[in-house]
Amino acid sequence: MLPILSRYTVTLAMLSVVALLMTACASQPAVQPTTAPPESATTTAQGLSVVATYSILGDLVQQVAGDSVALTVLVGAEGDPHTYQPTPRDSATIGAATLIFENGLEFESWLDDIFVASGSQATRVPVSTGATLLAATKEEHGHDEEEHSEEEHSEEEHGHGEFDPHIWQDPLNAQAMVVVIRDALIAADPDNRATYTANAAAYTTELQALDSFIREQVATLPAERRKLVTNHDTFAYFANRYGFEVIGTALGSSTESTDPSAGAISELVEQIRAAAVPAIFTENTVNPALMETIAREAGVTLAPALFTDALGAPGSSGATYLEMMRFNATTIVSNLAE
Ligand SMILES: [Zn+2]
Repeated sequence: MLPILSRYTVTLAMLSVVALLMTACASQPAVQPTTAPPESATTTAQGLSVVATYSILGDLVQQVAGDSVALTVLVGAEGDPHTYQPTPRDSATIGAATLIFENGLEFESWLDDIFVASGSQATRVPVSTGATLLAATKEEHGHDEEEHSEEEHSEEEHGHGEFDPHIWQDPLNAQAMVVVIRDALIAADPDNRATYTANAAAYTTELQALDSFIREQVATLPAERRKLVTNHDTFAYFANRYGFEVIGTALGSSTESTDPSAGAISELVEQIRAAAVPAIFTENTVNPALMETIAREAGVTLAPALFTDALGAPGSSGATYLEMMRFNATTIVSNLAE
């Protein structure tokens, strides 16, 4: 076990270097998307300056706002909101914004500090206020006791709220998020009330169709096969809505700690065998090495990565919220059916 974990750590370290290089590249204006922040004004020729903290929320805001706002997404496609490190550019963006849409529920643990530092006068809009919430799961995926230092304890206790923040995994909660987004846009920009109202209504119809699609997919899977083993605990709302049981996760409610103990991994492998699931699932925002190891030890398939806390890249199967949810549903059902 130890050599495998060490290799995983090395791989992560190498990825960090790659991520740094990519960040360096991304800071070049030449490769910036068209959503670069405006210099100062609260409104521009494109309308309100609006920020969304992560890509899935950004898609929902875009669907409601249409072309009436200048939207900047802080944590983009494939980016992990749990481990995000804000940049000086983000500070400028936040400082110039009129509205900041955030998940809330302590999902964006990095936002408060940069908001204060930026001197922003923006209205912050936690979109989870309208959602039906589930309690956060108790952390049971930590290190072996002897590996715990005081520092690790305090890190693990930091940033985990009372409620599970992954509300978007239930399309009914996405509908509730759209209502919050619509009302905040109307309050900030009443001249475009009719546009925001019509866009929200049209998108809500698509979210209702999404829910029907997922229910039809899941209905083809016998109830006793609706069992999920995933990388981190992001599917509680999906499981609650569609009748799945979350058997276990390699990590806890966040991806901040990526080094479960050998004992915790062995326990998860036993749970996978006891549940007799044919496949387990990793996610688009993380290195799959840990789940590959667990799948190999348990003798099960590692399914194609699900889109969890971020959209996929443009052109991928998860480029929008609707696409990512359809992909997840069909991937889960087809891999558990075998
Ligand atoms: Zn998460």
